[in-house]
Amino acid sequence: MIEKWKGQPYNPISCFYEKHFGEKVYKIPVSVVDTCPNREGLKGMETCIFCDVWGSAARSEAQTLPLDLQIKKYKAHIGKRFGAKKFLVYFQAYTNSFAKVQAIKENFYRALEHEGVAGVVVGTRPDCISPALLRLWQEIHEQSFVSVELGAQTFNDAQLDYLKRGHNHAQTLKAIKRIKGETDVDLGLHFMFGLPNETDEEIQDFAIKTNELKIDNVKLHNLHVLKDTPLEQDYFNNKFTPCTLEEYSRKVGIFLSHLSPDIYVHRLAALASRWDELIAPSWARKKMETHQNIITYMRNSEIKQGSSLH
Ligand code: SF4
Repeated sequence: MIEKWKGQPYNPISCFYEKHFGEKVYKIPVSVVDTCPNREGLKGMETCIFCDVWGSAARSEAQTLPLDLQIKKYKAHIGKRFGAKKFLVYFQAYTNSFAKVQAIKENFYRALEHEGVAGVVVGTRPDCISPALLRLWQEIHEQSFVSVELGAQTFNDAQLDYLKRGHNHAQTLKAIKRIKGETDVDLGLHFMFGLPNETDEEIQDFAIKTNELKIDNVKLHNLHVLKDTPLEQDYFNNKFTPCTLEEYSRKVGIFLSHLSPDIYVHRLAALASRWDELIAPSWARKKMETHQNIITYMRNSEIKQGSSLH
């Protein structure tokens, strides 16, 4: 018998992939755009305070290469290392829906031509959703798999202002409604914990609202400080203190215990892939230890995904 949730106290996204695709699926992160409304300063927007020059994505040596070469290079690397055979191409860096729809379309189709590529994953912002883009996502969904990951970060407008996201939570709700109403794509939300003045009650409410919105999956991040970001200035001016791993684990526990067991979870923390650029907290560079600390906290506290909902 297959152990529920692979023995984890939460419902990992790998369970969805195996159920949907019948085997393990590996993500290929690619970068094809190099800007977003914030970085362009549209309507007075500023760069999000945590975002570095890589657009909040893992830096890859391949990122400056044409899309086909990025895919080939990464496939060869993980194919050799893990025996990977099925892939999702993850258009991750910056804001992928900010580019012209025709260019996005060409990139999607180009990605899907590669052997073993079973779909695309798109990272974007709630205020970058156009009718043409929704039509494109649905078009691709009808022949392949599309997952959209929306950077909600928080539903608290004061926190969104602090992060300089340039959108409010009403826009996030509107984007979710449009994506759900006009497409059948898989929809995920990104949340960020460890923000100043964040309360346990609001973290709990984020989970409950996520359940009500019938979101398919979530990805959790800890607000961490990278070199050459606006947040770095706040950190050195003692205006921002990152939370400890213990505190972050507690916050994740609150969120997951109120999250429906049916919602898949990508990951529990953002880990700095660019170690040389991480300013704080130092625990954000220890992938396995961070994950294990959260799991141990949940086990010791008898917390499971959805356990506070009964
Ligand atoms: S986090 Fe995303 S939206 Fe914000 S500045 Fe970076 S790329 Fe732009």
